[in-house]
Amino acid sequence: MLKVALPVPRPMLFDYLERDGVAAQPGDRVVVPFGSRERVGVVLECAQASEMNAARLKRIVRVLDGAPRLSAEWLALMHFLSSYYQRPLGETVLSALPPRLRSTRPLPARRTEPPPAPSAACAPLGVEPNAAQAEAIARIAAAFGTFRAFLLHGVTGSGKTEVYLRLVARARETGGQALVLVPEIGLTPQLLARFRAAFPGERIALLHSALAEAARTHAWLDAASGAAGIVLGTRLAVLAPLARLALVVVDEEHDPSFKQQEGLRYSGRDAAIYRARLARCPVVLGSATPSLESWQNACAGRYERIVLAERAVPGARLPQVRTVDLREHRPAHGLAAPLVEAIRARLARGEQSLVFINRRGYAPVLACEACGWAAGCTRCSARLVLHAADVRLRCHHCGREEPIPRACPVCGNLDLRAHGRGTQRVEEALAALFPDARIARIDRDSVRRRGAIEAALDAAMRGEADILVGTQLLAKGHDFPALTLVGVLGADHALLSTDYRAAERLYATLAQVAGRAGRRDRPGEVLVQTRYPQHALFAALARHDYGAFAEAQLAERRAAGFPPWVHEAALRAEAKRLQTALAFLREVAASAPPPPDVRVYDPVPHLVTRRAGYERAQLLVQSRSRAALHRLLSRWSERLYASPSRAVRWHIDVDPIEFD
Ligand code: ADP
Ligand code: ZN
Ligand code: ZN
Repeated sequence: MLKVALPVPRPMLFDYLERDGVAAQPGDRVVVPFGSRERVGVVLECAQASEMNAARLKRIVRVLDGAPRLSAEWLALMHFLSSYYQRPLGETVLSALPPRLRSTRPLPARRTEPPPAPSAACAPLGVEPNAAQAEAIARIAAAFGTFRAFLLHGVTGSGKTEVYLRLVARARETGGQALVLVPEIGLTPQLLARFRAAFPGERIALLHSALAEAARTHAWLDAASGAAGIVLGTRLAVLAPLARLALVVVDEEHDPSFKQQEGLRYSGRDAAIYRARLARCPVVLGSATPSLESWQNACAGRYERIVLAERAVPGARLPQVRTVDLREHRPAHGLAAPLVEAIRARLARGEQSLVFINRRGYAPVLACEACGWAAGCTRCSARLVLHAADVRLRCHHCGREEPIPRACPVCGNLDLRAHGRGTQRVEEALAALFPDARIARIDRDSVRRRGAIEAALDAAMRGEADILVGTQLLAKGHDFPALTLVGVLGADHALLSTDYRAAERLYATLAQVAGRAGRRDRPGEVLVQTRYPQHALFAALARHDYGAFAEAQLAERRAAGFPPWVHEAALRAEAKRLQTALAFLREVAASAPPPPDVRVYDPVPHLVTRRAGYERAQLLVQSRSRAALHRLLSRWSERLYASPSRAVRWHIDVDPIEFD
């Protein structure tokens, strides 16, 4: 008897009988009859007996052999993810497969070129490692063949990527595969280019969610068969089977985009660590601003910390970071005089400036001065953001769009005002100040099409703009040779946030965006506009002393009882009425009283309570004991899966990082 995960009617396990002459093993994809149709499922277990009436069981039809059998190691990863993140095993397995492998359609035709020979193909790498890099490489390489986790804490431009490349080359020498995870491929085309340049003969499997179906299927198959020596991708790449995994790298390990925010809410970083454990290989977590979780793990000796304290390019220095006190320098159109003058000086010298504001659109609020009305989304408890470029109001929570009203819908006042600012308004202000400068805005609105981000960033890199205005998109990975000034607007929003992770994220973002400046021989300068220049975060940032900042944050979190000092999970519910969601959460909490070492908080509405027409509430659970927390979560989810509710949509988020 076989237990088979099937995608219908919702992903779950079904029992099937074996067929004589067909040897099906766990990890095989099989065709089975389901209703009047045939479906593809994955065999998860060969069992002695079924709880079902044997007379009603059907037989499998055949085993599909177009793809390699999913290995025991891969299935073990699925078991771990399923139990850790509280999703049914069948769903976990099926959602990890590329869609094509879940269908009866034949797999897309294989590419014809043969897989390249390993190791011999590795091109000599461009630069000689410096002493710090050499030591990092030696320490990590010494762990090949065993599980060990390393935290590679290297300032921006310290040559972490060179370390990864050398380690990958080492792994390839012995025929091992390397798995390299990055937050977002579209933002780091340079990283891919460097891998391609370093390993010209190597097949590199790229895996990310924007791939077309055939490309994703190929990449997955190349990873599974071992034809690809290097697998490079976003968090979902951690779910690919790898026949000979020898090295795992997680670049920018602190990045929140490693956490999946729907379905199986896994952390790509944490899954990568578990994978390395299963494969008995080293895992390298790299960052200039490690997550406090990883920092804490390093302090506790669970990870080995390796530091790259200096920029790798001889002569390149870290940028000077300074605050601009907004109480002293009143900004005009969002820009304070010292920043304007600094930009003017760069223009005169033919150098590039970047103005960073982590909010797109023109202005976050459109309001009536006469009666106080403000444009809000009808489906969410959120304001509509004014987008001047395409003359729309847009909800950043549900995507709803509306035309801009000509008058206040309540009192008819014609004088509607835009409050606050986003990238478009900053671009407008800069254009008015510097009419002759070439200004390029780069955010999700300016680069909607696939490939447009790369094109815009490439143009900016070639120096085709004097001033760049942009969001997070500009902060990551890219190297702008002529950039010597970074201005930061709107940083205070994070300082005032109620989210305890906001400061950690602000530091990471500022360090990253600061890292864009002065990568070559010209020193960079960073000016952060703030009303709180005395804040400890800025002092640590100016000294490039992430350690001091991390220690201070950890002490605050310890006093307040926040992660990583406690383990946390959220149970969330959405319903048409808030009371329904809250009552649901209360009932679940009451169904299994928590053990003494687990703390269950009262359910509360989300900050943005209504989203896309649903009212949302959540309750938090915390414990110092991971095991105790998980025991309670398992009891809850068992009960929840057993009695599905029609009125409420719910999910459990283990190690949550978003709470809005
Ligand atoms: P990170 O990934 O830490 O930001 P990179 O690996 O991208 O740093 O390196 C930053 C720059 O330094 C790159 O231009 C890289 O070519 C250069 N670089 C790295 N290692 C060395 C080295 N040992 N000697 C000279 N230049 C180096
Ligand atoms: Zn009005
Ligand atoms: Zn909305």
